Amino acid sequence: MKPQSAEKIKFTKEFTKQEPIPEAGIKRALELMQTGRLHRYNTTDGEISEAVLLEKEYADYVGARYCLGLSSCGCAIYIALKSAGVSPGDKVLCNAFTLAPVPGAIENAGAVSVFVEITEDYLTDLEDLEKKAEQSGAEYFLLSHMRGHIADMDRVIEICGRLGITLIEDCAHTVGCRWGDKFTGTFGKAGCYSSQTYKHLNSGEGGLLVTDDPDVIAKAILFSGSYMFYERHLSRPSMEVFERHKKQIPNFSLRMTNLAAAMIRPQLADLDTQCRRWNRRYNLLETELTGADHIRIPKRLAKEGFVGSSLQFTLTGADLPGVQTFIETCGARGVEIKWFGAKEPVGFTSSWESWQYIKDRQPLPRTRKTLDFMCDFRIPLTFTMEDCKIVADVIKQVAEETFD
Ligand SMILES: *Cc1c(COP(=O)(O)O)cnc(C)c1O
Repeated sequence: MKPQSAEKIKFTKEFTKQEPIPEAGIKRALELMQTGRLHRYNTTDGEISEAVLLEKEYADYVGARYCLGLSSCGCAIYIALKSAGVSPGDKVLCNAFTLAPVPGAIENAGAVSVFVEITEDYLTDLEDLEKKAEQSGAEYFLLSHMRGHIADMDRVIEICGRLGITLIEDCAHTVGCRWGDKFTGTFGKAGCYSSQTYKHLNSGEGGLLVTDDPDVIAKAILFSGSYMFYERHLSRPSMEVFERHKKQIPNFSLRMTNLAAAMIRPQLADLDTQCRRWNRRYNLLETELTGADHIRIPKRLAKEGFVGSSLQFTLTGADLPGVQTFIETCGARGVEIKWFGAKEPVGFTSSWESWQYIKDRQPLPRTRKTLDFMCDFRIPLTFTMEDCKIVADVIKQVAEETFD
């Protein structure tokens, strides 16, 4: 039976509307504004700033030794690379399916991105990772868990260990996600998370860096712009570690504000509940779309504890003009689908071909083919389960009209 006869379904809600900041966050933010103490080091004797408290709570949440709050995830990645030892001219492996701030962070560190193919299931192609590691001699791998798809971390760790590669994780889309029983961001030298408005925690802008390495966190704190106040951090190693680095590390002024931390703390306390709410919506959409003509949703690996805050599917039996028509028609019916197959970068969506500041980019046919047929949309928590059902119905109806 067809989803709904000839009548064209239309969806009217915004794909970019977030939920409000929790009351406790608003209250705390207002109190801070009343005191004027918005800077993380503007504390009186014995007072502990919001940023410091958040760092302690986030490190505890993911099970890392140390955490540092920063002004964005992009700069958390940049600082993580620098603190892990990346020097100008070094090569950094990175899966090609990622967002522009990721190669941007590599560029900012003066390093060179070496892109790795992804598979039909949107995961880093681990055979290509080995190949590119050997060809390039890169000693760093910045793994971006793009759209929350988590590659086989057991194999990633094995490959990095065997080839002597330092792993840094970009967890902008995997806040609250695990591989097995371990949080993403805790598998390598450092993990970086985002609290930018469109991610799982919302403080407008913001980033968090975690590591177990005392030298990495000391350097990161110094890079972030701690002046000589690093003793006020709770999530830090002993003062001797800072002594080693304090005159060697420039101050890049990339601190998190107390206001951002005040908004994030109550959201962190609710994060697991919010992740379950995302997954209920994702599961409904996945169930509705699975088995529909021309739509393939990749299987997830068994150990992947993902959070379905967005959904990707591949159009099958379609050609490129067909994909374009499909996406335009969905858009006209209120379902905003993002496409990494477009020739020109649009909105948040650009692909590695557009990052021309990186010289030696190699063709990536497997990634290109995957992205040409991949459709991508957000699942905001402001959507009800009924909303998700309508979105699925529109997609199925448009697929049927476009390809049959
Ligand atoms: C958003 C995003 C980032 C950067 O996060 P910001 O906090 O905006 O700097 C990094 N990686 C991915 C995959 C992202 O989507």
